[in-house]
Amino acid sequence: MLQRVYNFNPGPATLPLPVLEQVQGELLNYKSTGMSVMEISHRSKEFEEIIFEAEDLVKELLGIGEDYQVLFLQGGASLQFAMVPLNFLSEGMTADYILTGYFAEKAYKEAAKIGKAHIAGSSKDTNYDRIVSMDEIQLSDSPAYVHITSNNTVYGTQWKTFPDFGNIPLVADMSSDIMSYPFDVSKFALIYAGAQKNLGPAGVTLVIIRKDMLEKVPENLPSMLRYDLHAEKRSLYNTPPCFNIYVVNLVLKWIKENGGLKAMKERNEEKASYIYEAIDKSGGFYRGHAKKEYRSTMNVTFRLPNENLEKVFVKEAAENGLVGLKGHRSVGGIRASIYNAMSKEGCLALAEFMNDFAKKHG
Ligand SMILES: *Cc1c(COP(=O)(O)O)cnc(C)c1O
Repeated sequence: MLQRVYNFNPGPATLPLPVLEQVQGELLNYKSTGMSVMEISHRSKEFEEIIFEAEDLVKELLGIGEDYQVLFLQGGASLQFAMVPLNFLSEGMTADYILTGYFAEKAYKEAAKIGKAHIAGSSKDTNYDRIVSMDEIQLSDSPAYVHITSNNTVYGTQWKTFPDFGNIPLVADMSSDIMSYPFDVSKFALIYAGAQKNLGPAGVTLVIIRKDMLEKVPENLPSMLRYDLHAEKRSLYNTPPCFNIYVVNLVLKWIKENGGLKAMKERNEEKASYIYEAIDKSGGFYRGHAKKEYRSTMNVTFRLPNENLEKVFVKEAAENGLVGLKGHRSVGGIRASIYNAMSKEGCLALAEFMNDFAKKHG
């Protein structure tokens, strides 16, 4: 492979080229230390600069204040599925989960192992082709928190307005759309996101936690699972994933330099519109999985007339430099993941390929 492809993988996913180039340029000798960033101490001045700058950039880009703490943890979003209930679902309480997809289900199942978990709403009956509407949601009596998944990576749906449950803490898994649009963080008690979709390489998880939540952590919880301890140590309780945090910091700088979240949102909507248009104008050759009003700007899911054509589509797309388009096994078909770092050109190239393919096989 002589040149880079358009990478539609769902995660790990494409990263901004200028970030990769900077990583390459600094790899052997980071800021005249004579060492790679992988080789310097996590207690060094150089690394503290990196992690605290990343923390500040998260706050700046999302417009969040001093009442929140930004953490960089390990274990992926999947460990957060367990950490959230371990920290906040105490004996005798119930945690409410709104099921809108594959990862929402996984989060619910983890919570149910730890305490009492209640399904407050679900769109499983229509194979998660939509977001649950407000009047379908039935909360339990004073839940410990309500958990939602802002973007459903596998099914390609996205919350367009976040629910408001008053004083009940709202927790969101934003793994696949964090930093892709501006939103009001103050509605949330806790937000988490595995990095490998919109933030950087796999191996680090962003957590944004409202500080009052830190007081709820039970005494007997082991150290590595405690939000309060990670907060007290500013993510430096143990050796953090230094290299990953360094790349996340560069990605955050790239977002800022490219106009911040408002610009990301505009660009992402434009990018998604190219592909959705190819679906809608195909005369039924392509069938989108998500209901139109809940279509994700990050993961576009669709089917072709039959599975054999889907295989041909994935193969021919790859031959044209469009890779990673095979859908998740629970939806089948095609999934184009078009996170922040995917270019407009990539989305246009895919739309063009789709139009040609439909003409040839329709
Ligand atoms: C990818 C993804 C996960 C799983 O993340 P890991 O870091 O692999 O644990 C969880 N939730 C959502 C919404 C995702 O897209």
